[in-house]
Amino acid sequence: MADKVKIGTMWLGGCSGCHLSIADFHESLLDVMELADFEFSPVLMDTKYDEVPELDVLIVEGGIRNDENRELAEMLNEKAKFVIAYGTCSCYGGIPGLGNLWTVEELEEEAYINSCSTVNPEGIIPNEEVPALESRVRPLSAAMDIDLIIPGCPPRSDVVAEAVLTLLRGETIELPATNLCEV
Ligand code: SF4
Repeated sequence: MADKVKIGTMWLGGCSGCHLSIADFHESLLDVMELADFEFSPVLMDTKYDEVPELDVLIVEGGIRNDENRELAEMLNEKAKFVIAYGTCSCYGGIPGLGNLWTVEELEEEAYINSCSTVNPEGIIPNEEVPALESRVRPLSAAMDIDLIIPGCPPRSDVVAEAVLTLLRGETIELPATNLCEV
């Protein structure tokens, strides 16, 4: 029996909604697991970022919002042979990309000082133990070599499951031209 494909998932500058689409694979997950073993995933298993194995396929949610996203993406770039930018945030910047309408200073002031749910009379903006925001949100391609993009917010589970299974079978993936989003 041929070795199974080593597959992983990762989240960066996103909301984790794309990973819920993977959880929604339902029975298709069993088909995927006949062909592949999940070796790394912050959702599906206990994962340590400093113990990432070599991967044949890596599915990445989210773009590059902060310096931790970039650091992890660059590390994963060395570990994964085939990278799927998964979801609109990963492909294009998505919802976090709306932050590009403001400067980092404006965003931090709104989040930490001015928002109606914040109580911060001293006006402290944390700059330790919080990853520093980059000047702009960028798509995953700013830090990783991408082999396939699957947009959608989140992408439709059936489309993603079919794309992953097609890839694992070594066949050519054809995504629908429209209606890639779950809702
Ligand atoms: Fe969340 Fe949508 Fe971005 Fe996926 S594409 S991480 S669902 S905001």
